[in-house]
Amino acid sequence: MADMTLPHRGPIDVLRVPLIGRFLRWRRGRLVMQVALFAIALLLVIDGFTGPQNAARNLATVTSWVHYRGLLVVVLLVAGNLFCMACPFALPRSAARRLSIRGKRFPRALRNKWLAIGGLFLLFFLYEWLDLWASPLLTAWVIVAYFVASFVLEALFTESAFCKYVCPLGSFNYVYSTLSPTQIGVRDPDICARCVGKECVNGSYAPQPVIRVDDIGGGQTREVKHGPDGVLGCGTLLFAPQVKSNLDCTMCLDCVRACPYDNAGLMLRPHGRELSEPGSWPGRWDVSLLVVILAFTGMTNAFGMVPPVYALLEWLANTLYLRSEAVALLILFGVGNLLLPVALTLLAGWASRALAGAAGRLSLREVVAAFAPAFVPLGFGVWFAHYAFHFLIAPLTIIPVLQEFFGMPGEWTRFGAAADTTVISLVQVVVLAGGFFWSLLLAQRAAMRLYKRNGMPGLMPWALLLLGMMLVTWWIMSLPMEMRGTDLFA
Ligand code: SF4
Ligand code: SF4
Repeated sequence: MADMTLPHRGPIDVLRVPLIGRFLRWRRGRLVMQVALFAIALLLVIDGFTGPQNAARNLATVTSWVHYRGLLVVVLLVAGNLFCMACPFALPRSAARRLSIRGKRFPRALRNKWLAIGGLFLLFFLYEWLDLWASPLLTAWVIVAYFVASFVLEALFTESAFCKYVCPLGSFNYVYSTLSPTQIGVRDPDICARCVGKECVNGSYAPQPVIRVDDIGGGQTREVKHGPDGVLGCGTLLFAPQVKSNLDCTMCLDCVRACPYDNAGLMLRPHGRELSEPGSWPGRWDVSLLVVILAFTGMTNAFGMVPPVYALLEWLANTLYLRSEAVALLILFGVGNLLLPVALTLLAGWASRALAGAAGRLSLREVVAAFAPAFVPLGFGVWFAHYAFHFLIAPLTIIPVLQEFFGMPGEWTRFGAAADTTVISLVQVVVLAGGFFWSLLLAQRAAMRLYKRNGMPGLMPWALLLLGMMLVTWWIMSLPMEMRGTDLFA
């Protein structure tokens, strides 16, 4: 039988790396990171409410819309979902969660990604309509709204409903952390099979100290302590030995800290391994469409920055006699972010199934679910190309903005320079082309797995869709990007 005290086999655990691993496993490790980001969030809110209402000179806008997003895509790719790990919005959430420990679960009908899709749509619509990127005040209000929403939902429901079902930022992180080289896992599954309390999901927190003596088989017993110093179990209800994907994992490491056998860890894996492993994702419509919609939203978000968007909005306004910018934007993004991705996904799924002669054997849902992971690398490439542009166009401007926030003269000449535009274009081309070929490879594998000898015809509709998305994004990226300022409806 497995030794319950000395588990030392399995994949490489990042949490065994000296210093970093020790810090992350420390029960206050996450709190330290959250407090640091909470302090930063507080500075953004203060500057947003009281500082200069010039987006380029205010911490709220520069940090939220330039530096945070630029760093986010890099960190997701090279490390994993570290921003959810250190998320300051989860701080009031943790306090609220202790209040709701005997509360209700989130309503069953809402335990899916439809709310998250709605949240993403709303956030990007508000971003365009209210020009959030240009308003420090409104950006500060968005941050405050985030804190309030996460606290209220956590106080009402037992699980981390805000993180799992609502948060647009979390949804983005979940989807694109599926590319990352780390994932929660266990070192020895045999130990989990004999574990009595399953603390990784149930937690080791108790209002009063409790000592439980577990029978771990083979005539052995193990003392397990629960108490007020214990850790809450997995907020998103993942069970460490069964985790196959980073979807829904906030990388909070509560499972690691709660495990009495020191058996859970943050394991290294090949980049994006789960995307080519069947069964890693739930084959649900909401999950599949979230991934495709997110990729299309990346395209429309970039499209909102180039001149043709004005021509299109003007055409919409004239053709439909619109007097409201909100309605025109709702139509534009309703079509681009919801209607088009859903319609094209259904069409590609239907055509793929028909061309492969699998109509009687596979449902449309199964086909779409099999190809949905292929939209992750391309979608990530689209977002990366866009966010890298904003970040590299002003990589060090955070320094003079900080200087001015603290009452010093901002050294704009010294730190305001943009990176070489050739370098920026090269980064955009590499990530976009790299994402496309990775996506194509995933789609090809899915087609071969699903349709066997008829894989090539079954692949064609998906390959065409991916190619079309890549070319459209390429066209958008080749246009001059600008911070918007034209108001057609003034
Ligand atoms: S990872 Fe979970 S199930 Fe496995 S030993 Fe630890 S607490 Fe038990
Ligand atoms: S407790 Fe859940 S959300 Fe947190 S790291 Fe473990 S599996 Fe991920």
